[in-house]
Amino acid sequence: MMKPQPNISTEKPLSAAQISPALFRQLLIVAILGFSSIWGIDAYSGIIAVFDAFSYPLCIGAFILIYILSFSRLNQQSLHYLAYLVVAGYLISCSIWHHLPDNGLFSNSAQWLGLNYVIVYLFLDVKKAAPATAIVFVATIVGHYIALIQNHTVNAAFAVTLNMAIAHVIYIFLLWTVIKLRVTSDQIAARANTLENYAYVDLLTRVLNRRGIEKVFNELNLDSTEQQKNYAILIIDIDHFKQVNDLNGHLVGDKVLNRIAGKLSRTIHPNDILGRWGGEEFIILTLNRTPQQVMALAEKLRTAVSNLVVDDISNITISIGIGYSYEATSKEAVFKIADDHLYTAKNSGRNTIRADNF
Ligand code: GH3
Ligand code: MG
Ligand code: MG
Repeated sequence: MMKPQPNISTEKPLSAAQISPALFRQLLIVAILGFSSIWGIDAYSGIIAVFDAFSYPLCIGAFILIYILSFSRLNQQSLHYLAYLVVAGYLISCSIWHHLPDNGLFSNSAQWLGLNYVIVYLFLDVKKAAPATAIVFVATIVGHYIALIQNHTVNAAFAVTLNMAIAHVIYIFLLWTVIKLRVTSDQIAARANTLENYAYVDLLTRVLNRRGIEKVFNELNLDSTEQQKNYAILIIDIDHFKQVNDLNGHLVGDKVLNRIAGKLSRTIHPNDILGRWGGEEFIILTLNRTPQQVMALAEKLRTAVSNLVVDDISNITISIGIGYSYEATSKEAVFKIADDHLYTAKNSGRNTIRADNF
C-alpha cells in the first residue's frame, strides 16, 4: 500500500463531532465563569436558593474536573457528554426542585429548560442527539409531574406538565429540522471534499498530480521573503521509458509507473511531498535538509528504483536533477535549475543524479 499523501483539502465540514479540544476548553471556561458569577451575584445579594447554594459549586467543580480531564487521553466525545450531563442535570433538577412544595419560584428555572435541547443540537454528536433528547425530555416531564403532584391536583399537575411537554416537543421538532439541514450540509461538504481530493490526485499512481503539487507548493509559500525557506526540488525522470512501453506494452508501462511511484513514496520522509509532474516524470519537494541529506535521499531513491523488478523487467532506472532554494529566489527558478540538472544527468549516461557541485 502507498503512503497516504498530504491532505490537500483545507475545507472541513462543520459538525458537532469536530469541536476541537481548544474550543471545548473555551466553552468550559465560559461555563465556569458563568456559574461562578451567578453564584457570586446570588450569594452577594442574599437571594440564593438552598438548591443553588449546593449545586453551583458542584457544577463548577465538575466543569473544572472535565477541563483537567480534557488534557488526558480520554475520549473527547465522552467529555462533551459529561459536560452536557452536568448542564442538563443542573437545569432539570433545579426546575424540579423549584416545583416542589414550599420551594416557590419555579418561574425562575423552568424557562431555562429549552436550553437543554439547543445545546444537544449545537454541540453534541449528531448520531447521539436523539437518545440524549429523549432522556432529557422524559426526565424533565416525569420529574416535574412528580414534583407538582405533591401539592397540586392531578388535573393541575397534568395540565402544567402537558403544557411543558408540548412546548418541548416544538423545541425538539424545530431543532430536528435544523439538524437534518446540518447533516445534509455536512454530507455535501464531505462529498465536495472527496471530489476536490480526486482533482488533485493522479489516478494511476495515487500520488499528487500536477495541479495537486502546484496547490501544495503555493500553500507552502516557498517564495516568502519574510521567512526564508530552505528546500530542494528533485525532478525524477524514468530512463528510456518509451522502450518499456514499446517492448512490453502500455499496460505494463502503466504498472511500472505505478510501482515506481509506490517505491518513491515509501522511500521519502513523511514530510516530503511527492507528485507526478506528468508522463514518466515525478517531482519531490523536501524541506529543511542539508545538500548532503538531499543527495543521500536522491541516492536512496535511485538505488530503490534500480532494485525494482516488475513482471521480469529488472533494468528500471531513473535520472534525478536537483535544485536548491539557496540557488535562486523563486520556486520557478529552483525548478528550472533542477530541470537543467536532469538534462545533464540524461546526457551523462542516465541512472545518475546531478546537482550544484555534483
Ligand atoms: P529518457 O531516458 O530520455 O527520459 O527516455 P524516455 O523514453 O523515458 O523519454 P521520452 O520522453 O522519449 O518518452 C517518455 C515515454 O513515457 C513516452 C510515453 O509513451 C511514456 N508515457 C508517458 N506517460 C505514460 C503513461 O501514463 N503510461 C505509460 N505506459 N507510458 C507513459
Ligand atoms: Mg520525460
Ligand atoms: Mg524518461
